[in-house]
Amino acid sequence: MSDAARGRFAPSPTGPLHFGSLVAAVGSYLQARAPGTRWLVRMEDLDPPREVAGAADLILRALECHGLEWDGEVLYQSRRTEAYRAALADLSRDGRLYACTCSRSDLAPYGGRYPGFCRGRPAQAQGSHALRVRTEGAPITFVDAIQGLQEQDLAREVGDFVLRRRDGLFAYQLAVVVDDAFQGITEVVRGSDLLDSTGRQIHLQRLLGLPTPSYAHLPVVVNSDGEKLSKQTHAPPLDLKEPRPALLGALRFLGQAPPREVAEGTAAEILGWATQHWSLERVPSTPGQTPG
Ligand code: GLU
Ligand code: ZN
Repeated sequence: MSDAARGRFAPSPTGPLHFGSLVAAVGSYLQARAPGTRWLVRMEDLDPPREVAGAADLILRALECHGLEWDGEVLYQSRRTEAYRAALADLSRDGRLYACTCSRSDLAPYGGRYPGFCRGRPAQAQGSHALRVRTEGAPITFVDAIQGLQEQDLAREVGDFVLRRRDGLFAYQLAVVVDDAFQGITEVVRGSDLLDSTGRQIHLQRLLGLPTPSYAHLPVVVNSDGEKLSKQTHAPPLDLKEPRPALLGALRFLGQAPPREVAEGTAAEILGWATQHWSLERVPSTPGQTPG
């Protein structure tokens, strides 16, 4: 057990918790709690147009109902804009940023990779523009505790990416890096839909002189059509009156099967057993379907 180790769950309040997000919450909780380390919750509420009123509180209630108690206060990204601004100022001073005025249709032919049209521009510019960070340098490699060795050549595969959007909102990639460091997170456990964001995050950590946590990307939950469970695919919200089936489903999904006498207990008992018996080696690396 180490005082310095910390895990976290970082939901976006775009809707109530569903089974897929419960899996991420449970996986990050157990990976932190099994060795007795701290587990924090951060509300990633930095995109108001995508948020749903009341969702943040509903998510916290759902965590409590499933026995997932966090340490300390919840950190709200909507209150962290000064820190994001300061990080952008550092990057700008180091010549890492430039203003981009490309429209969505300008970029549509490039399949998600930014072709660098605005690279010659300064970071300070008139009119509405996004800010992008340069991605030159060697490919990023890291070993994911579940998915194994990963390599991404950012310049070739992603291109310079947006840190502040044209509408003035801060990008997820920037906020997550600033806040993982601010909260002292040493291990990030989350869904593997975010695996391909990790290279960008490590790149930013290096530019900002921040430590790189270790990473474990859990398999995503898909529906019977093979689509990731999400608001867009109409994943049903969790049942807060009867949390045990979803909790057991999440544990089984993660390769941790409690014995019958434990499965018949309360949510807190089930989670207590899971904390004692947690094994990351048993977590599958490939997507799986919702149980039942
Ligand atoms: N807020 C992000 C999401 O809900 C997760 C961020 C993270 O775990 O890094 O998809
Ligand atoms: Zn551009």
